Amino acid sequence: MFLTVIGTGYVGLVSGACLAEKGHHVTCIDIDNEKIKQLNSGNCPIYEVGLPEILERNIGKRLFFSEDLKESMLKSSAVLVCVGTPFNGDKIDLSFLEKVSSQIGEIIKSTDERKTIIVKSTVVPGTTEKFVSDIIEKNSHKRVCIDFGLGMNPEFLREGSAVDDFMNPDRIVLGGTDEQTIKTMKDIYFPFKGTDILETSCTTAEFIKYLSNSYLATLISFSNEIGNLCASYDNVDAIEVFNGLHKDRRLSPIIDGIRINPDINTYLKPGCGFGGSCFPKDVKSLISQAKSKNINLPLLKSVVDINNEQPSKMIDLLTDKIPSIEGKNVGVLGLAFKPGTDDLRESPSLKVIDLLLKKKASVLAHDPIAAEIAQKQIDNKNVKFYEDIQKLIDDSDAILIMTAWENYKELHKLINESKKEIFVIDGRRILDKKKIKNYAGIGLSQ
Ligand code: NAD
Repeated sequence: MFLTVIGTGYVGLVSGACLAEKGHHVTCIDIDNEKIKQLNSGNCPIYEVGLPEILERNIGKRLFFSEDLKESMLKSSAVLVCVGTPFNGDKIDLSFLEKVSSQIGEIIKSTDERKTIIVKSTVVPGTTEKFVSDIIEKNSHKRVCIDFGLGMNPEFLREGSAVDDFMNPDRIVLGGTDEQTIKTMKDIYFPFKGTDILETSCTTAEFIKYLSNSYLATLISFSNEIGNLCASYDNVDAIEVFNGLHKDRRLSPIIDGIRINPDINTYLKPGCGFGGSCFPKDVKSLISQAKSKNINLPLLKSVVDINNEQPSKMIDLLTDKIPSIEGKNVGVLGLAFKPGTDDLRESPSLKVIDLLLKKKASVLAHDPIAAEIAQKQIDNKNVKFYEDIQKLIDDSDAILIMTAWENYKELHKLINESKKEIFVIDGRRILDKKKIKNYAGIGLSQ
């Protein structure tokens, strides 16, 4: 099929590239002409395992990048909309979607062919059937379901494993306004055999995405709340407490005598908070939408409040060890919001760096992948970026582990080699506490 993908960010680029890899002819559109130039010259603008190889195999054959939406749309039977939907402090910001929907309306006005418009961006329930539909109808003078199809296909990829998630989805949710739209969407996903396909309304599809992210965010904040409580007792380590919970057979079933430890249990572990472009804004957007319906969501509000506070626990643990951190060198290991990505959006590390600077500490920052991007974003003479972790450790009075990068798991070796007495605050509980002399961690009594 000929497809157009609008928005070439994490979702649009991965979706477009993977759909081309599966055999479709895809053109990805973006208004960012630097990004389009970069992609056309074969460079991948984001860090995502496996993506550069897919781009290399497909660019110029089945995968194209352009700024010309009209030219691409007129050749395509379906359009996948993947523009950003950030939180504007009050509610979900639909301005990018609004712009794209009116552009789409203008373009379909000029053709008699039926096009199928599929929203992949995360939008609050009701947005596709009301907001998007109305704008396209108004600008095209055409009718939804009759002259054009409208669908909602939420994306569940996780940054850090986005290609694998897209190529091997755990579910494909197809929300559609009519049967023909659902059929077109099924044709797009035809190459993804053996996956559960859920056919539903656009609004239910939107809800499924919010339910998924709210549920995962709730598990994390629940774990952090209990972890913080554990830390107030003598001789309690929240990691052991949660390990006891994970052994419940409903969380880790025993099948043929073998214990299965599902990934969901990684969300049931205390840490220094969640970040990224999805969980924080999706939970807040849902709360805001509920409020507009006069429905209060106290549980989800607490999820956000706990998460907002959690990075400051790292500073509390640090100042327990070093009461005045003014003028001290504090290493921040990990800047990305999670391992496997260079995405800094809403990263707890940024909040921690901010708190450290407010207390007049000097920050020594490291990230194996996201440092270059962070350097462009953090312009402060008191934040110095290091490539050499040993040097960072040697120059630091304390280090904070903020991202669970694989190569940080063996840090005790470098820490123990340092001639200096150094305090380690483990925000992700990835280090072996027994191997480090001055160790403190989230969820651990001091
Ligand atoms: P992003 O900000 O990384 O990318 C959005 C892209 O859209 C940008 O490159 C921007 O230039 C482009 N754009 C904006 N307006 C445009 C227009 N009029 N025409 C063409 N391009 C335009 O966003 P993202 O992280 O890829 O997320 C996109 C959507 O998918 C959001 O709604 C997000 O919530 C959702 N989502 C994200 C993830 C994730 O892990 N990042 C996962 C699932 C769902």
